[in-house]
Amino acid sequence: MGRTVIVLGGGISGLAASYHLIRGPSPPKVILVEGSKRLGGWIRSVRGSDGAIFELGPRGIRPAGVLGARTLLLVSELGLESEVLPVPGNHPAAQNRFLYVGGALHPLPSGLRGLLRPSPPFSKPLFWAGLRDLMTPRGKEPDETVHSFAQRRLGPEVASLAIDSLCRGVFAGNSRELSVRSCFPSLFQAEQTHRSILLGLLLGAGQSPQLDSSLVHQARAERWSQWSLRGGLEMLPQALHNHLTSKGVTVFRGQPVCGLSLQPEGRWKVSLGDSSLEADHIISAIPAAVLSKLLPAEAAPLAHVLGTITAVSVAVVNLQYQGACLPVQGFGHLVPSSEDPTVLGVVYDSIAFPEQDGNPPGLRVTVMLGGYWLQKLEANGCELSPELFKQQAQEAVATHLGLKKQPSHCLVHLHKNCIPQYTLGHWQKLESAMQFLTTQRLPLTLAGASYEGVAVNDCIESGRQAAVAVLGTESSS
Ligand SMILES: Cc1cc2nc3c(=O)[nH]c(=O)nc-3n(C[C@H](O)[C@H](O)[C@H](O)COP(=O)(O)OP(=O)(O)OC[C@H]3O[C@@H](n4cnc5c(N)ncnc54)[C@H](O)[C@@H]3O)c2cc1C
Repeated sequence: MGRTVIVLGGGISGLAASYHLIRGPSPPKVILVEGSKRLGGWIRSVRGSDGAIFELGPRGIRPAGVLGARTLLLVSELGLESEVLPVPGNHPAAQNRFLYVGGALHPLPSGLRGLLRPSPPFSKPLFWAGLRDLMTPRGKEPDETVHSFAQRRLGPEVASLAIDSLCRGVFAGNSRELSVRSCFPSLFQAEQTHRSILLGLLLGAGQSPQLDSSLVHQARAERWSQWSLRGGLEMLPQALHNHLTSKGVTVFRGQPVCGLSLQPEGRWKVSLGDSSLEADHIISAIPAAVLSKLLPAEAAPLAHVLGTITAVSVAVVNLQYQGACLPVQGFGHLVPSSEDPTVLGVVYDSIAFPEQDGNPPGLRVTVMLGGYWLQKLEANGCELSPELFKQQAQEAVATHLGLKKQPSHCLVHLHKNCIPQYTLGHWQKLESAMQFLTTQRLPLTLAGASYEGVAVNDCIESGRQAAVAVLGTESSS
């Protein structure tokens, strides 16, 4: 009898894992179990009555590197090529990003000339930060906070303005707590291998992906900085879902897993409230902290480690304005914590993807709110009303961008525990989880944003790698 693999979680990681499980010549029986009514996890696109697209989660995927190419390959395989909306390298959304510091927007310098020129809010040209990086010896610690790493290699100003903002933009997190080794592995490796971030990035840049397709080729030729899909990024999980069901994968929705137990013969029993399923192997693509609560007593040490991988919440406020325009053209701006603890950044959606503006076209921007301020409110049990977030978002766009009129459309969503935090020593948690799984020979494989990258590309790759690991186990068993 064929073996059964159950995939927990129908976010992009679980969907990608299921997709790769059934690609081989003799695939196992695959069952995907999703707790909520819809698939896609944090990838969610809402269409307004005028046809405008509002992304509640991710809004752009980077095509760069091997992982970027793999995702584009997946898009082609799913027949979504004609839906792709690229942002080519010469587009303002690819070229211009801003920092909001001292009550003003400052373009981030780009290119060599940009590095040589004075570039406020930095007191000196960023060339000096580069020089400091080239002169600074290699760090000796096995891990370091992002802030400490950036301060040591690039100086205190770059660390507290640019890198602090970057951590807020990508992880909604605190650069003084996040791990450079886990959050920015390419920077950590660059220092380890080449003793310098600049040298590492320059010398490592020659490795081009082996994968090729017309879409990957086009993305490289036109130097895309990111891409989306015409009907929003949720088209990707929807296409994966359609593909999976057409290939015989059983998909359960609205069925939260409430417990996992190991039976004497080594098979899993997956409890779903009123019913249960059995599996030879599980791929978990649900958050680590959720899995930690489902594991059986035999896996207590693993549950303990996974329970320490926490996540933070983000309030996403999508705003639309009729007859308004922005004072600058670019991808958006980030806000360092020293400037405003509440606003992480503002994305100018209409600049990157005007095709999604609706009819008549309205200006779309998204304000991301979060960070330490939100964690404190949550910890104190404060009431977090949509009105509060709406007001803060409107204040931010009025002050930062001069958008003072009432929005024609506004969506407010508080995404609880949506971005995992790879804090200092995260790599040790992963090592100890892997060691437990290997020594105990537990038929469980971990995938998803909780472990090795939160970007959509990283999540898809984690699902692929989990499937490869399971298929490897299967063929050898
Ligand atoms: C606001 C925001 C903006 C972002 N922007 C970008 C961006 O622009 N670009 C980018 O690349 N990335 C971005 N990201 C990151 C990226 O979207 C996420 O990291 C990624 O979608 C996570 O996918 P996942 O499948 O690992 O997890 P999830 O999306 O969390 O999926 C996990 C799934 O498991 C289900 N589940 C949970 N518990 C159970 C249970 N007990 N039983 C069954 N199912 C369960 C959940 O319902 C969910 O569907 C953003 C994230 C957020 C939140």
